[in-house]
Amino acid sequence: MQDKPEVSVMWFRRDLRWDDNVGLYHALQSGYLVLPVFIFDTDILHDLSKPIDKRVEFIYLALQQMQKQCIKAGSSLKVLYGRVSDCFNQLFDAYNVKAVYTNNDYEPYAMQRDKGIALLLKRKNIAFYSFKDQVIFEKDEVVKDDGKPYTVYTPYSRKWKALLKENDLKNYATEKQLNALYPCKAIPLPGLEEIGFCSSGMVWHPAPPLDARMLQYHNTRDYPALHGTTRLSVHLRFGTLSIRKLVKEAMTLNEVLVNELIWREFYQMILWHFPRVVNESFKKEYDAIEWRNNKEEFERWCKGTTGYPIVDAGMRELNETGYMHNRVRMICASFLTKHLLCDWRRGEAYFAQKLLDYDLAANNGGWQWAAGCGCDAAPYFRIFNPTLQTEKFDKKLEYIKKYVPELDRLDYPLPIVEHSFARIRCLETYKKALLLNTT
Ligand code: FAD
Repeated sequence: MQDKPEVSVMWFRRDLRWDDNVGLYHALQSGYLVLPVFIFDTDILHDLSKPIDKRVEFIYLALQQMQKQCIKAGSSLKVLYGRVSDCFNQLFDAYNVKAVYTNNDYEPYAMQRDKGIALLLKRKNIAFYSFKDQVIFEKDEVVKDDGKPYTVYTPYSRKWKALLKENDLKNYATEKQLNALYPCKAIPLPGLEEIGFCSSGMVWHPAPPLDARMLQYHNTRDYPALHGTTRLSVHLRFGTLSIRKLVKEAMTLNEVLVNELIWREFYQMILWHFPRVVNESFKKEYDAIEWRNNKEEFERWCKGTTGYPIVDAGMRELNETGYMHNRVRMICASFLTKHLLCDWRRGEAYFAQKLLDYDLAANNGGWQWAAGCGCDAAPYFRIFNPTLQTEKFDKKLEYIKKYVPELDRLDYPLPIVEHSFARIRCLETYKKALLLNTT
């Protein structure tokens, strides 16, 4: 034990940056040199489709960027691969770990994993500190006056704004204190292949700062052919951008954008208070819906061959790029659940597999919203008409033609189902489940 270097460990997870990082800030104040650690957790990696997973690749590229900065500071990231508890045991073999610092992760698996690690550390008498970093307000910081959680967005967002103080957007100047990292020679990162994956050729793009275009966000955000949104979701997902920095910038540019960032926290709050939403409809009565779950139709939806151009463009954008515009996510999700009467959980799982910005809380929230069963969801009778949505948001078919070039050709499929028929079928099915009067 004597010879092992004494260190504090900074355990990075979905906070892959050196600047403005709360957990890192506290680690750097700990009085011990800080060993920066990232673990490729096999319990997560096992469930991903191999050999290409864009999320793993994104993380990998982010780690490479972090490593460059770390080396400049005379240190090195320690990137481990395995079960998290085994990786910690490896660290204990090599270092005299005095404390472990990290940032909160609110997903059910992560909370369970962290509980296990907290126990392991406790048994070894090692302190474990976890901080709020990826949201402005977490858990039950924004609740009703009676202490109960909000289940409707608008009053939640009002309270969120009322509670916001300057200090909540404070910048933790961690980048300037990297001289407290544990000095060592660069340890090469394991190759992507070593952890079971291949590169798809993805190129690293750091999160760009918001620019003057965001002054028009409220006018442009619904048009998928325009570059009218921030495209920052993946950076928020993996913490390659600080939420405090982003909210601060957004507040000077566009309130509607701030509102969207509050939606993100709203869904995280919902997941934390109501973890059952992972498997169940928030409004339980919606679990009585008799989904058709037609396998062939689901496959056509996945591939983007439904014969509804806006739906097909969206699904192909998702399959090709790992991204889909928000307006189109709503249309595709509504189409699957309402036109095809396919269980929202199937669509949610498909998005979870494909989205680069996949986030359990936002994805679950988005799907339950579209299916009508969520806490503050679209009413069951609101059924997007894909043709009208196209007229409104992609009138010149610019977005559609980018992903569906064969639109005008004979080989483009006929609509999978006729809209008016599907609409009536959906209303009847929903009403039956909700025991509403169908006459
Ligand atoms: P912008 O319009 O620039 O918004 C800025 C940020 O605000 C986003 O990056 C995101 O963090 C947040 N945000 C915006 N809209 C929402 C919203 N409705 N709910 C929660 N946060 C929001 N977002 C994800 O980050 N991960 C997901 O897995 C995800 N799945 C979705 C599934 C469905 C069915 C739907 C309808 C929406 C989903 N969203 C998800 C929300 C939204 O579509 C994306 O956040 C947005 O399209 C990302 O693009 P952007 O960064 O350009 O967004």
